[in-house]
Amino acid sequence: MFDALAEKLQETLSDVRGRGTLTEDDVNKAMREIRLALLEADVNFKVVKQFTQTVKERCLGAGVLGQLNPGQQVVKIVNEELTALMGGSSAGITFSPRPPTVVLMAGLQGSGKTTATAKLARHLKEAHGSSVAVAACDVYRPAAVEQLVKVGTQAGAAVYEQGTDKDPVDIARWALDRAKTEGKDVLIVDTSGRLHIDERLMQELKDIRKAVKPHAILLVVDAMTGQDAVNVSEQFAEAVDFDGVVMSKLDGDARGGAALSVKAVTGKPILFASVGEKLDQFEPFHPDRMAQRILGMGDVLSLIEKAEQQFDEDEAKELERKLRRDEFTLEDFLKQLRQIRKMGPLASILGMMPGFAAAQMKGVKVDEKELDRIQAIILAMTPEERRRPELIKGSRRLRIAKGSGTNVQAVNQLVKQFGQMRKLMKQIGRGKMPDLQALMRQ
Ligand code: GDP
Repeated sequence: MFDALAEKLQETLSDVRGRGTLTEDDVNKAMREIRLALLEADVNFKVVKQFTQTVKERCLGAGVLGQLNPGQQVVKIVNEELTALMGGSSAGITFSPRPPTVVLMAGLQGSGKTTATAKLARHLKEAHGSSVAVAACDVYRPAAVEQLVKVGTQAGAAVYEQGTDKDPVDIARWALDRAKTEGKDVLIVDTSGRLHIDERLMQELKDIRKAVKPHAILLVVDAMTGQDAVNVSEQFAEAVDFDGVVMSKLDGDARGGAALSVKAVTGKPILFASVGEKLDQFEPFHPDRMAQRILGMGDVLSLIEKAEQQFDEDEAKELERKLRRDEFTLEDFLKQLRQIRKMGPLASILGMMPGFAAAQMKGVKVDEKELDRIQAIILAMTPEERRRPELIKGSRRLRIAKGSGTNVQAVNQLVKQFGQMRKLMKQIGRGKMPDLQALMRQ
């Protein structure tokens, strides 16, 4: 997401950063480039105008020009304004002191509402330990109820449904009673979407709102529809006041226009981002981290949070011990590889690391298939071979190549690279900075 925009902004800013002094002309030029980059990213033009104006005023007003490292200051200002543009601080759902906290999900058909309902349930369960129920009130879209039963159950939520013959308002009321009786912390109500916003849809939402008095109404919009998503949000905001946006399908949105415009246009913050079809591809939206990601400053905090979900402390210590003592085997490597891959597609993980985003844009692509191959090769080895890769010679190589559907060269390469990696780790384990160049020469 935001690939093209990130690339352009980073280019512009690295140009600015590289200079010892800045003139007003330099600032104007940078602003022109930023304006173009934002427009190309499909950001609402009024938002772009306001944004560049504010950044420019701050750059010129803060006496940045005369200062040491003026470029750094400009980067800082752009970062702060990008963060503010997306809503400033991150907000989540405020839990009601008297459970269940009721969340109403609204949105057009196909926006990803049902998926987001299950994802939010999973998120609240994982992050807050809440017991969650979801209510199937989308009785119009074919198979929406079955879909919620399926994904809701996968998410570990109780699914309250009464088929498609009943009135959605009655179902919502019934679900709320049931959530109270069963002592749930949270009830998430999936409502009907339509292809377009229409009077009946809005009326139904209002009726459900009256019936269950939600603590939060979330609007799900499809990031891939760009400015349409912003228009939909605006129309919804006029008809039914909502609290925040769930931006879905951000993974498929290379431009990012909707995510960057929606707060400024509607006044409603993005609370969650959905970044894939899988249930765990859903995260709280942090404007500051997103701005840093766009500017190539990395999003180390999100990365650490993700890692913490996958690795437990004991395992981490054990790993460190093995690395230090040079006992790290291909078996351990396989385990790590699997855990890292559980965190999500590698490209998105690398995108959170400072510097990597830029590297990726310069054409360094992460090849997930290559990882599949590596995994297959290690799996084709015997446990003994995984512990002592130096055994892998001659006929063993051929056997592993055949077993993994690869070839002898690929097996050789993996064994060699693993040897280099071990050397590197040994150096780091001894507290030395690794001699990368020496390793590359091998
Ligand atoms: P609803 O009609 O609003 O309930 O929409 P659904 O939840 O059924 O989602 C519509 C389609 O979008 C489904 O095929 C989902 O798998 C897909 N989808 C939902 N969220 C995401 C997302 O964040 N990324 C991607 N790539 N697909 C998504």
